[in-house]
Amino acid sequence: MKVIEHLARASRPLVSVEIIPPRRGGNLQTLYAAIESILPYDPPFIDITSHSAEAIWEEQPDGSFRRKVIRKSPGTFGLCAAIKYKFNIDPVPHLLCSGFTREETEDALIELNYLGVENLLLIRGDEKFKKPIQDYRSTNRYALDLVEQVANMNQGRYLGDLIDAQPSDFCIGVAAYPETHAESPNLHFDVELLKQKQDAGAHYAVTQLFFDNTAYHRFVELARAKGVTIPIIPGLKILTKKEHLWKLPATFHTEIPVELMERVRACTTDREVLDEGIDWTYRQAVALLESGCPSIHFYIMQDTRPFLRLMERLEQVI
Ligand code: FAD
Repeated sequence: MKVIEHLARASRPLVSVEIIPPRRGGNLQTLYAAIESILPYDPPFIDITSHSAEAIWEEQPDGSFRRKVIRKSPGTFGLCAAIKYKFNIDPVPHLLCSGFTREETEDALIELNYLGVENLLLIRGDEKFKKPIQDYRSTNRYALDLVEQVANMNQGRYLGDLIDAQPSDFCIGVAAYPETHAESPNLHFDVELLKQKQDAGAHYAVTQLFFDNTAYHRFVELARAKGVTIPIIPGLKILTKKEHLWKLPATFHTEIPVELMERVRACTTDREVLDEGIDWTYRQAVALLESGCPSIHFYIMQDTRPFLRLMERLEQVI
């Protein structure tokens, strides 16, 4: 089922999660066990992140180093199939612009269509490293271009103008940034961009993680005023380590509220930090649900334990 159908049919707030494929050569059983552990909470859909290739330096037998380009966490599509057919949950693969030609993207979309995957989250990907692509190959520069490509396929318009091509029917999700994307000039630019993505065919948005609900509400208000009508699902992450106080703002351009910072700084053990993180996310989630949010998305990556502790409390109010 499509994400927007899940949202439309839900009789109670939905809780979805996002996971990351194991590192190359990693243990898939651990991830399966993680998914099994969250089944009692009935996630309607699970997002699976995607990662473009990165350059690594590999030591050679003669002691020299050779630059090698690899995808460290491949397997997004395989996991989609497993989640759909092993766990009967709708997978949402993330598809990137960075590092892929439009032709590769079309082939990937055809694979996903054949697999019965109905949802996609379309993002640009981070720009820190991009696999070099020859100039003559066509690429999607921004997520908006990717949305247009998928929306075209949904109309039966493939690259190369195929005759009698079967339209796909993907539900399209996109990213949204309540605290402004790092490269954007301001929040209004991001809101305008979300409107353009909606107009191009996006069906819903999921936000970047945030710790202050005011940022989410302000963003949604601005977006609604600009004519954005698609659901904007809040994305939350549980702060689990003291180093998150500086790593999360640096990576995701989110602000840690002073109260949370003080509470975490006062902790003397890892266990206390985790308790504070779970408590903060719990209060954020309850407030979002009380304000009428029909759904919350949790960035759990591979470790479900903090999420499970959170859900023990949250399920009392859902
Ligand atoms: P875009 O919408 O393309 O925007 C990127 C930047 O370009 C923005 O600053 C925007 O303002 C600017 N811009 C857009 N269009 C124009 C234009 N026409 N002219 C000038 N500037 C423009 N990353 C991964 O690598 N893998 C993942 O699986 C992944 N999943 C994510 C899931 C969610 C819910 C979110 C919020 C982010 C995720 N990311 C992921 C991170 C994402 O790839 C980065 O945040 C990326 O830098 C931006 O992606 P985007 O789709 O928002 O890009």
